[in-house]
Amino acid sequence: MSALTILCCPAHYVQGAGAINQLGHHIKQIGTIPLLVSSDSAWNRSGHLVAASLEAAELPVHRAGFQGYTTPSAVDGLVEKIRTGGHDVIIALGGGSAIDAVKAAGHLAGIRWASVPTAASSDAPTSALSVIYNDDGEFLEYRFFPHNPDLVLIDTQMVADAPDRFLIAGIGDALATWLEARATARGTGGTMAGGRPTRTGTALAKLSWELLWENALPAIDAVRAGVVTPALEAVVEANTLLSGLGFESGGLAAAHAIHNGLTAAPQTHGLTHGQKVNIGSLTQLVLEGAPTQEVEDFVEFTTRVGLPNSLTEIGLSPDSPELTAVAADATKEGETIHNMPFPVTAEMVLAALKAIEGISRRVRAQRGLPEPQLIQH
Ligand SMILES: [Zn+2]
Repeated sequence: MSALTILCCPAHYVQGAGAINQLGHHIKQIGTIPLLVSSDSAWNRSGHLVAASLEAAELPVHRAGFQGYTTPSAVDGLVEKIRTGGHDVIIALGGGSAIDAVKAAGHLAGIRWASVPTAASSDAPTSALSVIYNDDGEFLEYRFFPHNPDLVLIDTQMVADAPDRFLIAGIGDALATWLEARATARGTGGTMAGGRPTRTGTALAKLSWELLWENALPAIDAVRAGVVTPALEAVVEANTLLSGLGFESGGLAAAHAIHNGLTAAPQTHGLTHGQKVNIGSLTQLVLEGAPTQEVEDFVEFTTRVGLPNSLTEIGLSPDSPELTAVAADATKEGETIHNMPFPVTAEMVLAALKAIEGISRRVRAQRGLPEPQLIQH
């Protein structure tokens, strides 16, 4: 591994209530014939605001629908639309799947790309990589690009209007960032940006963690009330910007590798990225022998947030045969789990996964929290 340290980041990050009204102004700096990509549900909720903003900037409004997982064929389909429409910038409006597809298609077509997340549900919007799945939702590969989005624009009123489960998922994704950056900094591994972690990336990952512990619960209250508060602004920045910069330039480790492994268990396919990542975070804490107080506080906090931290909640148990495949996939060659500051085997991951069920149940009982229940999705 090179001793170089590398930081990469989006060219512009715009956040706030009503930010969507500025979309046309910002897109006009980077292109003239945008292609908007969104699911029907995102378009039905926000399409009129997006169209009005583009029209105010005298930009044409062309939209392509997007459903399902970010698969190689979905990406290739968007490249075809870019070529036939003569587009010079592609904009994702929606969640992580549309955003990852747009980044991959924009790169293949050689045009610029922008992320307009409609919820703070993952840190996908800021990064220079996409996660590609097969048609069944199983992890296939990471694709890396030579630059980050030219623009990330997130309207916090849209976040407040979206279902709370999206924000909760984003909190799960973002909580992992510090745990993984800390582990990568302690070891000798590299980041997704390509070098050793910058101090900046590691510090931003820690800031994300601190903002979440302080603001996550009142931010969820704000979304349930449909309003934007300073706590929600802080969590949106943590979930979208800080977690993105923190993971990409601070390093991923066990939590995301275990997430990728979990996609081998069909029981997990309806879960959000952040829900699966949170199982990975607790498993990483057990795997690294974190202090008992830290493990127990993590179980309590994530239970209060509404994130799963037991096998029961994700449709598995310590006896599930799928856990062997999960542990094997999480420790494949090239997986980020090998950024941990000690060698990790599939047997170690299997043991940690089996252990989290009892830890979660004991901590909940000790701290007056409800027993884990299967998440309905
Ligand atoms: Zn993630």
